[in-house]
Amino acid sequence: MNVHSADSQTTDRFPWGTTHRYNRYTDYQRKLYGQRVQKVTVDAGFTCPNRDGSKGFGGCIYCNNESFNPGYNNATKSITRQIEEGIEFLKRRYKNLHKFIVYFQPYSNTYAPLDTLKRYYEEALSHPEVIGLTIGTRPDCVDEAKIAYLECLAREFDITVEYGLESVSDATLKRINRGHDVQCYLDALEMTKGRGIKICTHIIFGFPWEKKEQWLQTANWLSDKPFDFLKVHQLHVVKETALERLYRKKPFDFMTPDEYIDLIVRFLERLNPRIVIQRLFGEAPPRTLVAPHWGVRNTHLIQMLEKELQKRNTYQGKYFSDS
Ligand code: SF4
Repeated sequence: MNVHSADSQTTDRFPWGTTHRYNRYTDYQRKLYGQRVQKVTVDAGFTCPNRDGSKGFGGCIYCNNESFNPGYNNATKSITRQIEEGIEFLKRRYKNLHKFIVYFQPYSNTYAPLDTLKRYYEEALSHPEVIGLTIGTRPDCVDEAKIAYLECLAREFDITVEYGLESVSDATLKRINRGHDVQCYLDALEMTKGRGIKICTHIIFGFPWEKKEQWLQTANWLSDKPFDFLKVHQLHVVKETALERLYRKKPFDFMTPDEYIDLIVRFLERLNPRIVIQRLFGEAPPRTLVAPHWGVRNTHLIQMLEKELQKRNTYQGKYFSDS
């Protein structure tokens, strides 16, 4: 049993080796590569089985892929061109960038025949400054052949598969029309783990029928699962989605920024300190956002979180027990 006591963690370094109060992906990458590594997003033009009819039509009730696609992405451009434009954009924004991970983000990026996937992935990996891939997908869009191929790539490159789970409740997955259940995610984890492929899990907090206590228990549920990275974001209602129609018909409440920060602090306290945090806040472009209008950027929310962790003298894993 290993319960981290407050006294042992009030100074210096936390178990992940930095003075930050949670296990941040930027620190993890810096430690691994000795420099900042930036993701460059591409749109390979894939679709999703939850949209094209093989699993369902219309997709998850909150999904509008336009809301998370940066301007330089456009599936009509080649992967190479998107990478070059993305790198150019990022290098103007940040100094001394030399290593990039190509992020296949919109829709389900393993939802194509293996030969097609190989063509896209290998085109991305042929760029001299690209050291790996992050592949966003659904847990029902992988199979043994695809994972075996990624296992081979992972011997040479930094390969992450990002599985959208969104909620650990089957009732919620049904309500949001995910088209898969929690067991499907667990099966995908089982197939992927221990093969040199890194695994990221994606979760959303804020579905109006879920309760804070459920989100806190999610930390316990996630803590013993064999994945490496976690992404969390607050629920957004964006335009042209089923959720927008539901919201307009019967508006529901959202957490305020302060309430969300409180939730995240308490969630982190319960979460296994081994899990590296890639993201805790989402942002939807103003042109697509219906609600909530928090009026604060992610950078400010991160500062608010760090201040709150400091104020409460707390940190990721404070109440985690591996017994
Ligand atoms: S699985 Fe992803 S791409 Fe497909 S409908 Fe759901 S959120 Fe959209």
